Amino acid sequence: MPRPLEALVHLDALQHNLTRARACAPDAQVWAVVKANAYGHGLVRAFEGLRAADGFALLDIAEARKLRELDWRGPILLLEGVFDARDLESCSRLGLWHVVHCEQQIDWLAQHKTEWPHRVFLKMNTGMNRLGFTPQAFRNAWLRLSALPQVDEVSFITHFSDADSDKGIAQQADIFLTHTADLSGERSLCNSAATLRHAHDPKVRGDWVRPGVMLYGASPDYPEHDAAHWQLRPAMTLRSRLIGLQHLQAGDTVGYGSRFTAEQAMRIGVVACGYADGYPRHAPTGTPVLVDGQRTRIVGRVSMDMVTVDLSALPQAQIGTEVTLWGQGPHGSLLSIDEVALHAGTIGYELMCALSQRVPVLTV
Ligand code: PLP
Repeated sequence: MPRPLEALVHLDALQHNLTRARACAPDAQVWAVVKANAYGHGLVRAFEGLRAADGFALLDIAEARKLRELDWRGPILLLEGVFDARDLESCSRLGLWHVVHCEQQIDWLAQHKTEWPHRVFLKMNTGMNRLGFTPQAFRNAWLRLSALPQVDEVSFITHFSDADSDKGIAQQADIFLTHTADLSGERSLCNSAATLRHAHDPKVRGDWVRPGVMLYGASPDYPEHDAAHWQLRPAMTLRSRLIGLQHLQAGDTVGYGSRFTAEQAMRIGVVACGYADGYPRHAPTGTPVLVDGQRTRIVGRVSMDMVTVDLSALPQAQIGTEVTLWGQGPHGSLLSIDEVALHAGTIGYELMCALSQRVPVLTV
């Protein structure tokens, strides 16, 4: 028998979450953001669940090529554009749309010899201060791009810094819309949080939304709202089994650094999953876990290949009993990845992306 740890990717959840994105942004088209190997779910797998999207947004030409090999003929957008002039050749051949966020990328386009004109999304920095032209430099960039024979369509994109709150959304949207008001082209503003919280406003919604994490069933504004509030379903389950049991006496400790001390006699279980699998090492005692669908807690330090869990209230748990680290458990139970992440001082995004290569993944 192989080690009893596996991740499940739920295609019906991906489909459902995509439907939710569409419902939040009626009339807009949806870029399914599948960068970082579809947030750890596996690009090919996620593509199966999300193929009803209008386009796929990612970072890598190699990943874009994979989608073309799967016979996806629709739009693919490179969210950071090309990283080198030589990438423009692949962009042309694969028919990729790409973001243009700096003068250098325009220079590369101007020198690029191609028979297939490019479709680009010109990026405005409206306050994130990461990528993009300032609102003042934007028009010039647009004029330069529009004059290039290599470019046949220019659309506009910006990215919110605080879409998980209401802070700054109106100002960023306002800057973007004001500085593109007399330019014709499609507009894209919203990531998951903005799609869920703000896309009811047609101005903020724009022509394309770009949800990522919500498609995978995590909430972008947890703990203010959980995934259930947004009617999202977890697309990834990480599950394992108990592989060991220990009976502790009061005063006994568990694991490296003896971080947990039993206050009374208790039973603990050892689960085949550790930080080398992508489970967060910083998850402290008290982080929730499901044993046969029932909530209990991690006790002691997470080690490389194992975590230890409190079985005091679970006398029926035995070696082989199923353990859900996050996602969909048995008997209709659920454990949100956002909740686990919060305990570990991180966000659901990071846990999904950090799922390790050694964990076998099944599509269900
Ligand atoms: N758009 C851009 C430009 C991004 O960088 C990202 C992800 O970081 C997204 C959309 C999707 O974000 P989220 O996963 O929060 O929906």
